[in-house]
Amino acid sequence: MKSANSLMSGLGTTVFEVMSGLARQHQSVNLGQGFPDDKGPEEVRRAAADYLMDGHNQYPPMMGIPELRQAVAEHAKRFQGLDVDWQSEVLVTSGATEALADCLFGLIEPGDEVVLIEPLYDSYLPIVRRAGGIPKLVRLEPPSWSLPRRELAEAFSDRTKLILFNTPMNPCSKVFDREELEFIAGLCRKHDAYAVCDEVYEHIIFDGARHLSIMTLPGMRERTARIGSAGKSFSVTGWKVGYVTAPPEMMKAIAKTHQFMTFTTPPNLQWGTATGLRLGDDYYATLASDMQRKRDRLADALADIGFGVLPSSGTYFVTTDFRPLGFNGTDEDFCRHITVEAGVTAVPVSAFYNDTEKAPRHFARFCFCKHDETLDAAIVRLRQHFTR
Ligand code: PMP
Ligand code: GLN
Repeated sequence: MKSANSLMSGLGTTVFEVMSGLARQHQSVNLGQGFPDDKGPEEVRRAAADYLMDGHNQYPPMMGIPELRQAVAEHAKRFQGLDVDWQSEVLVTSGATEALADCLFGLIEPGDEVVLIEPLYDSYLPIVRRAGGIPKLVRLEPPSWSLPRRELAEAFSDRTKLILFNTPMNPCSKVFDREELEFIAGLCRKHDAYAVCDEVYEHIIFDGARHLSIMTLPGMRERTARIGSAGKSFSVTGWKVGYVTAPPEMMKAIAKTHQFMTFTTPPNLQWGTATGLRLGDDYYATLASDMQRKRDRLADALADIGFGVLPSSGTYFVTTDFRPLGFNGTDEDFCRHITVEAGVTAVPVSAFYNDTEKAPRHFARFCFCKHDETLDAAIVRLRQHFTR
């Protein structure tokens, strides 16, 4: 037998699947993979349910149902002040994961350089490479995770096709500030590069900060694809509804990829997502404030137990240093250890690096988008385990 594609068959199973499997096996409190306990807004789920029963359950238009594309454009105006043409500039995808793949396969030519920022979400590198891109990795260093400007500038060249980055950022919970985004934008303009920005946590942002899309900065409107996800904005991660906003020329190639990747996304879930994007500002404010309260509940308790807790400015996650607890193994050892011995699961942060061996090995990421009872159960277990 001829062998399958070497790059794809050489990949391991994603850390989220591995850790959730381990959590099920040991019946631990799963604060690993990021998914909310909350069911999501009633009206969003009701809209999808009603549409399933009464609506048109056949192929929707390839770009997405008009109601959702219009809602994505309205939402971009409301929160980012962007004027978006829903017909030529919005595409609905099966999750942000597909949106990312559509952008990368649609924009990268084999041999193009692609700038990426570590730590990074685990789907980025395999898709960049499969698209023939040559990754140029720049690392953020804990605990500040601030942008290393010189290294970033050096990673760009006239061979750079695009930069792919994520804000608010999983796993390190960093939010890029205006100056950092302006610096990235300057490099994109200088080297005539695209920006693909994963903004799935745009509404999960804390301490009064507002999400800023790089697409709003001078010269970036015509070179940015920004990606959102219903999963995160409406606490329905299983839905896998994503949306891309990009200028028409970029969108043509992205949409061509989508048409042969999935072609369409379930129409009832699109309908529900349109309902969500039109919820009032109070919905979004409450989403962020509820999540911030959960962050504080978990982060304060972990600090009290003895973890070194890093700041979390957005996302579902908090990064912790477990060395103060006296644990000397790797982050993988630690996450396995607490799953088996304490009954709580976290995710090793080294999984978000190209080379795990050369990554920081002393951080575990905990997810706080859970009911208070779930967080409290995890806290009790960890406290018992580490104060024994
Ligand atoms: N990007 C980041 C940074 C994420 O954390 C996630 C989480 N799942 C995704 C993309 C994928 O989103 P979706 O579930 O909509 O595919
Ligand atoms: N984005 C989620 C996380 O970081 C998981 C997504 C997945 O399981 N693929 O935990």
